[in-house]
Amino acid sequence: MTESVIDIKNVSFRYEREWVLEQINLSVQKGAFLGLVGPNGSGKSTLLKLILGLMKPQEGEISLFHESVAKFKDWNRIGFVSQKANSFNSGFPATVFEVVASGLTGKLGLFRVLKNQHKKLITETIEAVGMEKFMQRNIGELSGGQQQRVFIARALVSKPDILILDEPTVGVDEKNVRSFYDMLVKLNQEQGITLILVTHDIGTMTDKVTHVACLNKTLHFHGDVGDFEKFNSDDLSAIYNHDVHLLFHDHSNEQEGVARD
Ligand code: ADP
Repeated sequence: MTESVIDIKNVSFRYEREWVLEQINLSVQKGAFLGLVGPNGSGKSTLLKLILGLMKPQEGEISLFHESVAKFKDWNRIGFVSQKANSFNSGFPATVFEVVASGLTGKLGLFRVLKNQHKKLITETIEAVGMEKFMQRNIGELSGGQQQRVFIARALVSKPDILILDEPTVGVDEKNVRSFYDMLVKLNQEQGITLILVTHDIGTMTDKVTHVACLNKTLHFHGDVGDFEKFNSDDLSAIYNHDVHLLFHDHSNEQEGVARD
């Protein structure tokens, strides 16, 4: 039997007069890899802020691990990587190891007092995102996609059950997007981390996720990715205001069983 880790019940939210989210009902199951999609301004970031307890909905209720967000304290169980995470300039004086260590200590610089078991955990987490070769490199020297991996490791080092990613492929080189997604799939399948991924990249996303939620003020779809692919015709084009067929990945030219790494 599956178990929900996030339950959103009848949630409506407005910043001002107009409702931005209306009557959202959505449960995320343990171990799911959920792609949250919707056009610009459809309420995706707002919904994330409500899940993270940064704002309160005017109507409805959100629970994390069956506890109301308002009372929830165990925030180590939830990792969040924001869209703006990868903005270090090349002069920033912290190594990949130090940035990931700051996920444990809360501060850069405290890594010197880390115990061996913590150092091992940091190293393993850096390996899990495929950045072991860059451990001692300055974060500012890395590409956008590499920095994003480091910030994912920083969020993962405190061993969260859920990892929420807001548009992590913005700034990732197009040729590296697939291996970036493969890393996420590995975290989901091998470490059992529940993933929520906000993305515009419907094409690549549908290849990788287990579930999809499609938002535009109301929830237009929530279910298995297979059902979403059936749904992705005229209804979805109407939500996006343009022909979404163009957004979907064409699998017909792909070879099976070709190793990507
Ligand atoms: P998305 O993440 O899907 O692009 P958002 O959640 O950022 O959408 O925005 C949803 C709607 O709420 C938009 O119409 C946006 O203009 C509005 N909005 C977002 N943040 C604020 C704010 N701080 N104050 C007022 N309106 C906001």
